[in-house]
Amino acid sequence: METRPVINPIPPVRLYRINAGSCNGCDVELAATAAVASFDVERLGCCYSESPAEADIVLITGPLTLRVKDKVLRLHGEVPKPKVTVAVGVCPISGGVFRDSYAVAGPADDYLPVDVNVPGCPPHPRAILAGIAKAAALWRELSGCGQTLPEPAVPGSYDEDAAAPLGLRGKMRFNAAACVGCRMCEHVCAGGAIRIDELGPGLRFTLWHNSCVFCGLCSHYCPTKALTVTDQWQLSHFQEDKFSLTEQGFIPFVACTGCGHIMLPATPELLRVSYRKTNPEIERLKTLCPECRQKQSLGGIRR
Ligand code: SF4
Ligand code: SF4
Repeated sequence: METRPVINPIPPVRLYRINAGSCNGCDVELAATAAVASFDVERLGCCYSESPAEADIVLITGPLTLRVKDKVLRLHGEVPKPKVTVAVGVCPISGGVFRDSYAVAGPADDYLPVDVNVPGCPPHPRAILAGIAKAAALWRELSGCGQTLPEPAVPGSYDEDAAAPLGLRGKMRFNAAACVGCRMCEHVCAGGAIRIDELGPGLRFTLWHNSCVFCGLCSHYCPTKALTVTDQWQLSHFQEDKFSLTEQGFIPFVACTGCGHIMLPATPELLRVSYRKTNPEIERLKTLCPECRQKQSLGGIRR
């Protein structure tokens, strides 16, 4: 009997998926990497495995709930070494919107060695593929198998230059020059991703991409649109960059020209939103603190 020719003699890197209490959003996107041809993990030289004992890479979704924690740890322990673990979505990375829930034990790296993070809620299949590509390269290095990453069958499908699909909500961008320090974004942030700290000469703004769920609420409520949603999905990264993947800015205080007290600036963007166009009187008033503006309204500033 004629034997079939061997098409690919290199054994694939095997992926094993563990649901650690996810809402299934990330699992649906993961399913796309198995079922949709343009996102297929096979182009990375990978395939899905049904058994943890046969896997090389673990993909974890969900915030690691108390209910499933022990089972997740057992399954993860069954994957032989060397193994590489990928946290898919913000839930296993930081807890996402479930971060303070009584039912959540995570984040996953409190219990497991995580190697690669793919933030998003959920991340786009391309972002997941980019994370798997990083994990597969790491596994190949750790295992010393000598394999190299195959070229994508469809160029641009998971490389970092690939264009975003229309309407994709991705990484948030911060423009410090437009920010008036009102802290509304910090207040409404669903993922607890934003923190504004008062330092001596101003306010320091920090947004952690590993906690952002791409909800866009901060941008929606920001009065000056200092925060905007971009379509950038290229956020997968190695664990050592987990806490440095941030958007940062500094909003310097200014001195009131009436009394000298420091105050938050009235940015041109705020004036445009409030008055549409400015005039010399508005320009003068914007240099005054609220108290001096009140005094001004009552008949002049006493210095
Ligand atoms: S989009 Fe804005 S409000 Fe929503 S989680 Fe991200 S930083 Fe927070
Ligand atoms: S980014 Fe917008 S909402 Fe946040 S403090 Fe600045 S002005 Fe306020």
